[in-house]
Amino acid sequence: MGSWIRCKCNQLVHKNLFCSTGISLVVTEEFLDVERPEESAQDLVSEIILTSERMLKCSNCGRIILLKESKDEFELRFFSPDSE
Ligand SMILES: [Zn+2]
Repeated sequence: MGSWIRCKCNQLVHKNLFCSTGISLVVTEEFLDVERPEESAQDLVSEIILTSERMLKCSNCGRIILLKESKDEFELRFFSPDSE
């Protein structure tokens, strides 16, 4: 699967950053509370990218998909929008 995950509606959703896929990063309060006086803005962004969950949106069904991925962890959670 590589760069893609499959939504529950069967749509393929791109999960890689920097491919103009509209992915958001979920930064926790816990992360923001840590003081990093020596860290540059660029390093902070890199740390956020490495440690944060990614928030994807399925273009087909509108589900929000939270993705937690590291070298020894892979977790997907799906959230459906309320139907009108
Ligand atoms: Zn979907």
